Amino acid sequence: MRIAADYLFTGEENPSPGRLVIENGSIAKILPPGESDLDLGAVILSSGLVNSHVHLDLSLERDSDTIPGSFEDWLKGVVEARRKLGDRGLVEAAVTGIEESLSNGTTAVFDIDPRGHSCEALRDSDLKRVLFREVISLNAELSEDKTPAEIIDDFVGETSDPSRELRALSPHSPYTVHPHVMTELMKCCEEKKLLWATHVAEAEWEQELLTEGTGAGAEFLKKFGADPGDWNLGDSWISDLDAKGALSSTGLIIHGNHCSGDEFRQIAANNLALVWCPSSHNYFRRPAHPAPTAIEMGVEVMLGTDGRLSAGHLSMLEEMRSARTAAPQIPAAELWRMVTIHPRSWLARNGHSSLLGSGRLQPGDPADLVAVSIPDNSAANESPLEAALQGSVQACWIDGRVINSSAPDSNVDSGREEDR
Ligand SMILES: [Zn+2]
Repeated sequence: MRIAADYLFTGEENPSPGRLVIENGSIAKILPPGESDLDLGAVILSSGLVNSHVHLDLSLERDSDTIPGSFEDWLKGVVEARRKLGDRGLVEAAVTGIEESLSNGTTAVFDIDPRGHSCEALRDSDLKRVLFREVISLNAELSEDKTPAEIIDDFVGETSDPSRELRALSPHSPYTVHPHVMTELMKCCEEKKLLWATHVAEAEWEQELLTEGTGAGAEFLKKFGADPGDWNLGDSWISDLDAKGALSSTGLIIHGNHCSGDEFRQIAANNLALVWCPSSHNYFRRPAHPAPTAIEMGVEVMLGTDGRLSAGHLSMLEEMRSARTAAPQIPAAELWRMVTIHPRSWLARNGHSSLLGSGRLQPGDPADLVAVSIPDNSAANESPLEAALQGSVQACWIDGRVINSSAPDSNVDSGREEDR
């Protein structure tokens, strides 16, 4: 099977025309323009889009475009929504999220799964995933009968589909995991080279809680009977762990809304990556996200939607548009790398290159692909990568199989592809 496109995105600023040869679900060769089985024409053909932060079990309609009350009230609302939905409702929500992701050209997600609902919804899905088991513990002990290492082993050992799924850990945030438990978990992740992801510096009050033990974060903890004094590290979460040499290098910093330049330097020096969720960020009416500073400090930045409940959608193309509006100074190629190459290079440097490949359309990569149209009305002097931000997903493939070619103006011959 040879697929031709006018613009193959391999990570460079100026995508060039060419053909991909797909064999046994993988990219076998990249060829110059010529005869093909399927000519996609004026599209960007890139590796499949990766949503680097999502809560699939929160794939629910949001009530308004921006948060109606405080962040703390919103968090309480999430707990309440999960309780009302029950096990069945949460699995159904996750199924909806999977369908919406696939129809928007997302071929892989990094999902935070508190109690196994996404995991169940994803069981027979084509969508590739890193499933992070969420840990919340306001107690100094994680569990009375199991060590953190045993809890991790139980979850990680469960994977039934290693070709599509990786298991990982998500200590929810510095304020919902007791510092003792957090240190234990970080130690385990480092020893086992286990991937982790944590919501860091999401709310403004996190810093005050961790440096002074006071503020809205302290009040939040008191409501749950916890002693905020235990959380007083005297420093930010990242700087504290960095100073102790305990910042495991296999992780993802989610949000980092209030991280300082120094913290971004520490994130980069520890080989960690940052996930920015621009649409969700807008929903919470937060001040401008420091992603441009992070990039300047050498941090690899990826994009995520966060839950549909706050983002309002699960489209990575929409997320790139939100990022473009928020930070016009970021080059279009960097926005594309955030959803194709960066998540994959993070996986690869942590020993998991086979799950999603390189994202640079290299021979041997799985044929997880997406074709995004370039609108006819785009300006002549606009680069194809910039113009395609306003385009739409024309088709998407996972392991060389067509997942979605339903766009009405799609010129993809799905029948021929399926015969391959
Ligand atoms: Zn989140």
